[in-house]
Amino acid sequence: MEPKFQELKKKLSEVSAINSAAAVLSWDQQVYMPPGGAEARGAAISTLEELGHVKFTAPETGKLIDETYAWAQGLGEDSFEASYLRAARRDYDKAVKLPAEFVGEFSRATSAAIDAWAKARANSDFKAFAPHLQKILDLNLRKAQIYGYKASPYDALLDLYEPGATKAMLEPIFKKLTEGLKPIIKEINARAGSVSNDIVKGDFDEQAQLALVNEIAGAIGYDFTRGRQDRSAHPFTTDFSVNDVRITTRTHRDYLPAAIYGSIHEAGHALYGQGTPKNFDFTPLAGGASLGVHESQSRFWENIVGRSLPFCRWLLPLLRKHFPGKFDKINAEELYVAVNRSAPSMIRVESDEVNYNLHIMLRFEIETALLEGKLKVADAPAFWNARMRDYFGITPAKDAEGILQDIHWSLGAMGYFPTYTLGNLISAQLAEKMNKDIPGWKNMPEKGDFAPILAWLRKHIHSQGRKYLPEQLLKRELGEGLKVEPFLHYIKDKYSKIYGF
Ligand code: MG
Repeated sequence: MEPKFQELKKKLSEVSAINSAAAVLSWDQQVYMPPGGAEARGAAISTLEELGHVKFTAPETGKLIDETYAWAQGLGEDSFEASYLRAARRDYDKAVKLPAEFVGEFSRATSAAIDAWAKARANSDFKAFAPHLQKILDLNLRKAQIYGYKASPYDALLDLYEPGATKAMLEPIFKKLTEGLKPIIKEINARAGSVSNDIVKGDFDEQAQLALVNEIAGAIGYDFTRGRQDRSAHPFTTDFSVNDVRITTRTHRDYLPAAIYGSIHEAGHALYGQGTPKNFDFTPLAGGASLGVHESQSRFWENIVGRSLPFCRWLLPLLRKHFPGKFDKINAEELYVAVNRSAPSMIRVESDEVNYNLHIMLRFEIETALLEGKLKVADAPAFWNARMRDYFGITPAKDAEGILQDIHWSLGAMGYFPTYTLGNLISAQLAEKMNKDIPGWKNMPEKGDFAPILAWLRKHIHSQGRKYLPEQLLKRELGEGLKVEPFLHYIKDKYSKIYGF
């Protein structure tokens, strides 16, 4: 069997090489490419993607997977070969299920929807977007049918982003989360005026911001000999290989946290990629266990580490160095409070860690209701606004700051949003486990000592790559599956002290 396995490995590494080349083109498109290059670049990327898809879905690939699967499982569940075959089979079975004409129709519908969404959002005109949303919904229902599901079409879509998760599994956890957060948000809102973030607003030189965030990313362990940080409109992380994982950030001249926390967030993703074992490179085992687990890494560094008081104590001298004179009269406690100011926001991406998950909850409710035929597209804006009132006590004045704010649906993605919340929940579970494994870890950032934290994440999460499904990974490494209590406890403990309730 070994020669057949080597043959399969060679084939799939060629597929990975093609995908890696497409990723470089896409990175360049978002970072350096002049606007005029868009059309040719789009053609180059889609040609490469198609080439990769054709090569991957060739019957020969399926045959090699079938022939080596049982042999690999016989080498032990945790072996490289067994894990490799499980991941390869999952990907292959999904990739061959969608007929080419469906893929074509889906891609035509989403390119039309992206244009329509951008215009509809600019004009705050939901009616103009509604037919496109209906089309995306219908296509997602067909996609769910093609993939197959037991209880809800939502499960088939969710599984694309969070393998193994189902609506039935998430619903009780999300309900507990919602009920736990609502009273905390009420307490904070009742004291809204008591916390200000004025000290991180002002006029901050953007070159100095970039120098600062490079220093921060390097300090927490991001390896610049195997990556680089650039600027882009929307921060992102992209992996070309284990030894080339790149991040981007953005700078707001008048608001410093955008660059700092955007950068720490992406560095958190990138540490995962850079921590993947070398022999997983260009195999189906590269990349994270799921989007949710990936997001747990970024959120852990961004919020649990980056927005902690010990981190702020370490950060303050750096701010003084990069912005001379601006932070002389400020102490670390004031900085800590300023970067943790919480206030309801109409916009998900501008939301803080207390409010953020409720933005996801309302999207989860809308998506499941739409897919299960319990809500009509035309009624979705009213549903959205009612939830905004219930959760945050605010109502969008127009759909642009309500149901039209996210790009996800026009990209065709339904079932994606929960992965953000899963990341937040898992990040708090990781912190609780770290409490047991590394006494005093929370204070280590004060001295700039991030290595023990990174080493723990390397051992328990990064080194596993995609070997296990998310729920399996959590049970193996944390001794428990997904839980909501650690996150609620973290939020309540932190914000009751900041806001005094
Ligand atoms: Mg992220």
